[in-house]
Amino acid sequence: MNGVDPTGKRPLILIADDDMMIRVMAAARLEALGFSLIEAENGAEALKAISHVKPELFVLDVMMPEIDGFEVCRKLRTNPEFAHVPVLMVTGLEDADSINRAYETGATDFVTKPINWVVFGHRVRYMWRAAKIGEELRRSESLNKTLLDAMPDLMFHLKEDGAIQNLKLPRGRQGAWSPAELCGKNIDEAFGIDSGERLISKCVAKAIETREVQLCEYQVRSGRTLTSYESRIVAGENEDAIVIVRDITEKKNAEKQILHLAFHDPLTGLLNRNSLKEHLNQALAQAQRHGRCLAVILFDLDRFKRINDTFGHSTGDKLLQGVADRLLSCIRKSDVPARSGPDDLISAVGRLGGDEFLSLLPEIDSARDAGRVARRILESISRPFLIGGEEIFITPSIGISIYPHDGSDPESLLKNADAAMYHAKDQGKNNIQYYNKSLNLAASERLAMENDMRKGIERGDFAIYYQPQVDLRTGDIVGCEALLRWIHPELGHISPAQFIPLAEETGLIVPLGQWVLFEACKQAKAWHAGLPSDVRVSVNLSSYQFRQKDLLEVISEAIESSGIEPTHLELEITESAIMQDTDRAVLTLGALREMQIRIAIDDFGTGYSSLSYLKRFPLNVLKIDQSFIKDITVNSRDAAITTAIIALAGSLGLEVIAEGVETKEHMLLLREKGCDLMQGYYFSRPIPPDDFAKVLRNSNGWSCHLSTANAMRETAVFGVASQIPRRAR
Ligand code: C2E
Ligand code: CA
Ligand code: CA
Repeated sequence: MNGVDPTGKRPLILIADDDMMIRVMAAARLEALGFSLIEAENGAEALKAISHVKPELFVLDVMMPEIDGFEVCRKLRTNPEFAHVPVLMVTGLEDADSINRAYETGATDFVTKPINWVVFGHRVRYMWRAAKIGEELRRSESLNKTLLDAMPDLMFHLKEDGAIQNLKLPRGRQGAWSPAELCGKNIDEAFGIDSGERLISKCVAKAIETREVQLCEYQVRSGRTLTSYESRIVAGENEDAIVIVRDITEKKNAEKQILHLAFHDPLTGLLNRNSLKEHLNQALAQAQRHGRCLAVILFDLDRFKRINDTFGHSTGDKLLQGVADRLLSCIRKSDVPARSGPDDLISAVGRLGGDEFLSLLPEIDSARDAGRVARRILESISRPFLIGGEEIFITPSIGISIYPHDGSDPESLLKNADAAMYHAKDQGKNNIQYYNKSLNLAASERLAMENDMRKGIERGDFAIYYQPQVDLRTGDIVGCEALLRWIHPELGHISPAQFIPLAEETGLIVPLGQWVLFEACKQAKAWHAGLPSDVRVSVNLSSYQFRQKDLLEVISEAIESSGIEPTHLELEITESAIMQDTDRAVLTLGALREMQIRIAIDDFGTGYSSLSYLKRFPLNVLKIDQSFIKDITVNSRDAAITTAIIALAGSLGLEVIAEGVETKEHMLLLREKGCDLMQGYYFSRPIPPDDFAKVLRNSNGWSCHLSTANAMRETAVFGVASQIPRRAR
């Protein structure tokens, strides 16, 4: 073989011997083997040489003048650069003392004189290769050590029975474990794992037996903290094992959180829609197996939107959380029988979205069980919530559907609970309704009505009636409210209370409302032209219309096309409509004010009136809701509220009008309180435009009798009323 190094380099060897013959022979032999040689005549020369060359192997004669081979070897070993370089010592034959000394000074091997040059060459070659392998090993060991140090894992070397022989601590966690204490201990004991369980020890035995890597996870509690570990157990060569322990607490927590998010509503922590459906599926299967009932209780919060609009979303969110807490405690206290068993199901509560909540009562005996829980929910939620110092009142409308009576699959049970909930809303909210078949009928009736309404618009079923607004100081009819009427060819008059909400739901309110606006303006203009009157017309704007982007254009077009003075148009808007997006409302109302259109707040007192918004919005009129007027003469609370509204309007420089004035007593009391504008059946019902024109013509006679007696006016009123078609009254 020519060349020891596969890369073709000739590794450098230094030979130090005062015998030139030996140097020449060695050089010849070693150069033939692929080495290159550097020669030194003595120890001093050898040491001098290594300051500028770096031999990979040394051949040192033991006996040299001045600095001998032992000394050179000792010096080499203290130099880090040559600490591991192989050193071959050349000693005298059978010189036991020299041989021993050679090893002591750190020599790698020796040859004796006289040298057998064939053996010499092989020995040098072998030593050089062994040194290379050693170097390689040291390098990889240091790499391994770096890697191990960098690993966040705890590592144990264990005996077959799980006793700790050795361990490596994770980086940065040196303080947490004490190697001295741990060595000799059983691994399970070290982790505080129940000694009966012997979890890791068992895995160690299995790893050794099967030679396969074993994995185990466990949790260790220390005080209040729970740490999760994952152990990987690898069998060693000699009935031993290596255990690599990793702290996976963070990973576990993240997994838990992700799992929670997938199945829960982030705001309330209740189950979300998907997991409720999953629960319902399981509960249904179980109820079927056991032949029992199951109830779906669905509810939403009455006028929740108003709370959001008035107090802001963060209060709305807190309220939803409060509702969730109360719902949970209602269900916990549930008197629904609890059953134990492998497929035991407890009541599930969740939020379907928005302000809609659902509770699932599996395995009840009868609908009455569900009713009890629903009543508890109703009572609990109706108690005031204290949020940010405000007392907030809210009520739920609850619908219940029962398996098997009301459906046997999740979809129909949910749909029917929903129908029951809507029925509860129709029944005046804040109540509980069970599903029954006629409710679906009601839903289909609604659909029929919607279709009918579309046809009615085309057929021209709709009409506008006008109700006078009277100023008691002058006795004049100063305005009128335009009220939409649906006169159905077969059904006769359909109440706006019935069709307006439907029109809002379907968006039909936009074309209908626009029609009212244009018609009312045109009508007012006609009266102004034909009569000695400049009566104002009030048009109701639903919140849906108020949010339309082209609202201002539509209104100015109505004014322009009719030729009416803008001051003769008043828009009635409810509090909730302007509270939905107050910033935009301020802009819209400001623009209307610019156009000189009057703004009245309709149904005032029923919403969450906040005094600060009254100041912010450019308004003209507060319209006291008729619910306060109805009992004003008998209910002192209603009377007090009315007085307060009148005072409030006065201090804000707003006009105030009472609507729903039905009796002389109403009128007198209101006048006494300083409210001079009124509207109600006492003066006139809403009447068709032709009748209204007659009232306007006669209103002179009307006004002179207002302050003295009612007799004349009553005749006037009835005189008009008698001309109204019967079904319109
Ligand atoms: P609203 O705006 O509060 O209208 C007043 C309602 O009170 C009218 O009912 C009117 O007929 C009734 N009313 C007037 N005086 C008295 C009284 O002395 N006693 C009693 N008990 N009621 C009286 P109506 O016409 O049935 O309208 C109901 C609701 O439908 C209206 O309430 C309004 O919110 C809506 N509506 C009517 N027309 C329109 C319209 O053109 N557009 C919009 N967006 N909504 C309308
Ligand atoms: Ca109104
Ligand atoms: Ca009203």
